[in-house]
Amino acid sequence: MASRIAFVGLGNMGGPMAANLLRQGYQVSGFDIMPEALEKLQQAGGTPATSVAQAVRDADVVISMLPTGEHVLQAYLGEQGILAAVPSGTILIDSSTVAPDVPRQLAAAANAQGRALAVLDAPVSGGTSGATAGTLTFIVGGVPEVLERARPVFEAMGKKIFHAGEVGAGQLVKLCNNLLLGILTIGTSEALRLGIKNGLDPKVLTEIMCQSSGQNCVLQTYNPCPGVMDNVPSARGYQGGFATNLMLKDLRLAAALADDSEVQVPLGKIVKELYQLHQSNGNGTLDHSSVFNLSAALAELPSLQKDASHLT
Ligand code: NAD
Repeated sequence: MASRIAFVGLGNMGGPMAANLLRQGYQVSGFDIMPEALEKLQQAGGTPATSVAQAVRDADVVISMLPTGEHVLQAYLGEQGILAAVPSGTILIDSSTVAPDVPRQLAAAANAQGRALAVLDAPVSGGTSGATAGTLTFIVGGVPEVLERARPVFEAMGKKIFHAGEVGAGQLVKLCNNLLLGILTIGTSEALRLGIKNGLDPKVLTEIMCQSSGQNCVLQTYNPCPGVMDNVPSARGYQGGFATNLMLKDLRLAAALADDSEVQVPLGKIVKELYQLHQSNGNGTLDHSSVFNLSAALAELPSLQKDASHLT
């Protein structure tokens, strides 16, 4: 059984995921470019490394949780990267959200080495609260036998582990999911703002919509309106959580996938543009649910002025 894990990328998600592995008795060596992230790993009982290569050199399993596909490709394929430094037979798991082609490239490069390296893409759902509580959902692409070998490691960080298909399929599912999450977040924000402007208490509005046909996971578990719910980013000035920059990245990936596969996703593309506007207003590092505050800026857009008959 795998006991030595190397964790690369110890941010909002990776930090608590690594802490859960440590709690379950795994040895975790980790690398992050931010010294604070390495300090937290050490406080949790892990071993901070001074480079990716040092972190992975004795690993049975490598897990990466990095911001974008560029970071992932660089970490695995770069000079002194993961593929060059890991021992033979290691399982390589990328849990970042990236284009499906990224894990496919990693798998091809790993196979080309002929050292029994196995690649799984395993993006997650459940956010930072799920990462902290160890209740993430893992959506895995790759060879089923490799997933079975890695299952105990996934179970130390998550509750549900799905096999989506071959390498890249986990990312395909994740992009479909986040396209819908972006639409739900903006739709929920619109409905709440409309009610508030007309004198409704957002808590009452939420409670009723949660029992009506507008119910959805954003309204119920990640309410974007400050004051409705505790322990969500809207309750703490939209700090932490899932950044606007990352949501926009995922919506761009989903839009590119739609273009490549000639599928029309008009709502997804509008939502992407709204997130782009929100980011350009200086909100990139705030949690994505801060898009709740976008409507004030939108009032200035000519196409959304009052009496626009296309909106009726
Ligand atoms: P984050 O920015 O908080 O963490 C990323 C970490 O990677 C940072 O600590 C950064 O310093 C580190 N890093 C960057 N380049 C590095 C390198 N070359 N080597 C080592 N470390 C490096 O981001 P996050 O919120 O933890 O998200 C990580 C991934 O998980 C993203 O792909 C995101 O889309 C996905 N995701 C996030 C959430 C969420 O709720 N935050 C939910 C599901 C999926």
